[in-house]
Amino acid sequence: MTTPWTRVDVLRTAVLVAVGAVVWAVGWFGVSGEPALSDQIAPMNVAVLGVILVGAGYASWFLAGRRAVGARRRVVLALVPDVASAPAPDVRADDVRHDGFLGSGRLFHRSGCAMTADRAWVAEPRSVHEQAGRVPCGVCRP
Ligand SMILES: [Zn+2]
Repeated sequence: MTTPWTRVDVLRTAVLVAVGAVVWAVGWFGVSGEPALSDQIAPMNVAVLGVILVGAGYASWFLAGRRAVGARRRVVLALVPDVASAPAPDVRADDVRHDGFLGSGRLFHRSGCAMTADRAWVAEPRSVHEQAGRVPCGVCRP
């Protein structure tokens, strides 16, 4: 199984979180040993720096994953034909040529619709599909 993170992403996150946790712990113990508020300020600042480092580690993890998913998404979408923005086939020509629409289940389509590729559906008039409770496909808009 592949992950969206590289070894560099994992290492960066691990280092930031580990260093942040240590800095946080140092600040925590520094504060816990000081009864006076004025003496707690400096170690509290150290603890806050630790929390910021831990947060930066997880933020880098999240952003690296998001970036990798976006890159994979662009690659996959480049492989998918852009059927939504392609001009819709001529309805009348389809109807005359094939005498109806193709459908099964919830939708019916024009014969040229990409959603009907490799389907062994029989063309039937629109009324048959509508009586069967099917609705027009959103891609080919029959
Ligand atoms: Zn369709």
